Amino acid sequence: MLLPGALICLAILLSSGLGVYLRMRQIENVARHRETVPADFAEEVTLDDHRRAADYTIARTRFGIVETIFDAVLSVAWLAFWLAPLYALVAGVTEPGLTRSVVFVIAFTLIGHFLELPFSYFNAFSLEEKFGFNRLTPKTFILDEAKSLALTAAIAVPALYAMFALLRALPDSWWLFAWVAFMGLTLAMTVIYPTVIAPMFNKFTPMTEGDTKSRMEALLEKCGFESKGLYVMDASTRSTHGNAYFSGLGKAKRIVFFDTLLEKHSLEEIESILAHELGHFKYGHVRQMILQSAIVAFVCFAALYWAFSSGDFTGWFGLPNDPGIVLTALMLAQEPIAHLLKPLLSGRSRKAEFEADDFARQIVGKEPMIAALTRLTRDNLASLTPDPLFARFYFSHPPVPVRVAQLRSAG
Ligand SMILES: [Zn+2]
Repeated sequence: MLLPGALICLAILLSSGLGVYLRMRQIENVARHRETVPADFAEEVTLDDHRRAADYTIARTRFGIVETIFDAVLSVAWLAFWLAPLYALVAGVTEPGLTRSVVFVIAFTLIGHFLELPFSYFNAFSLEEKFGFNRLTPKTFILDEAKSLALTAAIAVPALYAMFALLRALPDSWWLFAWVAFMGLTLAMTVIYPTVIAPMFNKFTPMTEGDTKSRMEALLEKCGFESKGLYVMDASTRSTHGNAYFSGLGKAKRIVFFDTLLEKHSLEEIESILAHELGHFKYGHVRQMILQSAIVAFVCFAALYWAFSSGDFTGWFGLPNDPGIVLTALMLAQEPIAHLLKPLLSGRSRKAEFEADDFARQIVGKEPMIAALTRLTRDNLASLTPDPLFARFYFSHPPVPVRVAQLRSAG
């Protein structure tokens, strides 16, 4: 391995060190506030709830530390030791050419996936189980795994063939075409995901006629939305965590409520949650997210182009310059950069959440939104006292106490 390769491995380890440090801060902060419910929530959240939320957060974060260290060690092991023999193995059974590169990427991905499998298993059947959230059975777990593996293969194998073929045919401009094709696929996914893929895993039933539905439809109309596409998802088959989300664009637009959410919240609270989701649409957050991923993808494809055409990159790790190796090695090497960019991206996302909260406040008033957020936090055992730096780095949503304070101070 050459010096730049060694420095990249060092950066991966340092980045994981930063991840461990931030998680330790989180554990310390949550543990320190375990015995006192923040004043704003003293009426709705009991000390017992608060303690349980602290214990859950600490258990999850500890698990996160183990995962962070494992991932970094695995990445370095791949770059320094395993990619070369894996490539030799694949080269032994395939002719030089497109298929060899594709098989290599698939082998790498599969091995990585199976090494991560014990973590997902532990997460569902030990951690979530212990705190009463898990509803997965080993059978559903295995079925989900098999389905997502088959689905990934169905999309990734043709995509890899196409990309590597393009790379051969147009060595200088392939990455621009690949980027355009990737964005096309991303846009197609916003339609395909809610209508085809998500229903392979969960059941989506149109919301049944009744009080809830008519209230939601009235709200949609008030905000100028078509009243089609209200769905209930059987999230309770996997976990008791409650949520709601918006998916798709144009005609495929859907508003999905988890059945677990509808069970627990009052009508006013559900309205405020829908109003929040509508706020994301009103402020164009979905378009912003797509634009953001277009920029990220552009940089990634440019980096791939550079890494492949210069030929230096794989040389840093003493690896052959096969497109499959370039792709896998670059995916591993970009981790520290992606980690450092996290606060920037999650900061943008948190800003969008404030805007959506504010929209909900204007439409249904602040009290139902505050009540909904409080109940969600309590039921999901989210900590009311996260470490500010940890939250700044990783939270896609602002901590609930901050959101509630913001709502209280507004208007
Ligand atoms: Zn939101």
